[in-house]
Amino acid sequence: MPFADLELTDQRVKAVLCKIPRDQFVPEEYRSYAYENIPLPIGYGQTISQPYIGGLMTELLSLKPTDRVLEIGTGSGYQTAVLAELAAQVYTIETIEPLAKSAQEILTRLGYDNISFRVADGYFGWEEASPFDAILIAAAAEEVPPPLKKQLANGGRMVLPIGAPGKTQTLWRIIKQNDRFIEENKGLVRFVPFTRRG
Ligand code: SAH
Repeated sequence: MPFADLELTDQRVKAVLCKIPRDQFVPEEYRSYAYENIPLPIGYGQTISQPYIGGLMTELLSLKPTDRVLEIGTGSGYQTAVLAELAAQVYTIETIEPLAKSAQEILTRLGYDNISFRVADGYFGWEEASPFDAILIAAAAEEVPPPLKKQLANGGRMVLPIGAPGKTQTLWRIIKQNDRFIEENKGLVRFVPFTRRG
C-alpha cells in the first residue's frame, strides 16, 4: 500500500493518504513518481508537497468530522482531498487561477462535494465562511497573516511554515485559546513562497 510506512501516528490520516489517487494530481510526465514520498513539480513554479509533510500537517490539525477547514494554497488539490476526507467542509484559496481550475476539475471528478474554491490572495482568508476550526497554509510566509489569526475559531488549530523564502522554514502549530495563541515549533521544512497578489 503506498505511504503505509510513513512515520505518522494518526492512522486515519495514513489511511486517507493510502486511499487518495495521488497520480491523478500530478502532471503526466511525473505520474510514475506519484507514489514516492517526494514533492513533484505541478507547473507555474509550484510543487505538490511531499506526502509525509502533508500528512504531518494534517495530523497536527487534529481534525474532527464536523470541522470546517480553510486551506491556503490549493496547488494540485491533493492536500485539499486529504482535508475533505477528514473534515465536514473545506474552503480552499489559490492565487494561480489555472492551478485552482485544474484542482477543482480533478476533485469534482473524484466525487468530492464538500469543497469550496476561490481564486484570491489567501492573506485575507475567507471572512464570510469564518470562523474555522482548522487552517492549513501550504506556502511559506515571514509572519502569520493577521486576518487568518482572526478567522480561527476558539480552540482552533493553524499549521503553517514561517520563514524566509528559498531557505528552510519552521513548521508551527498555533492553537487559539480565548485571546491567546499557543505556538509550538514542529521542526524544519521547505516550502514554496507565500506570494502576495497585486
Ligand atoms: N498543498 C498543495 C501544495 C501547493 S504549493 C498540493 O498538495 O499540491 C503552495 C501553493 O500555494 C501554490 O500553488 C501557490 O500558488 C499557492 N500560494 C502562494 N501564495 C499564496 C497566497 N498568498 N494565496 C493563495 N495561494 C498562494
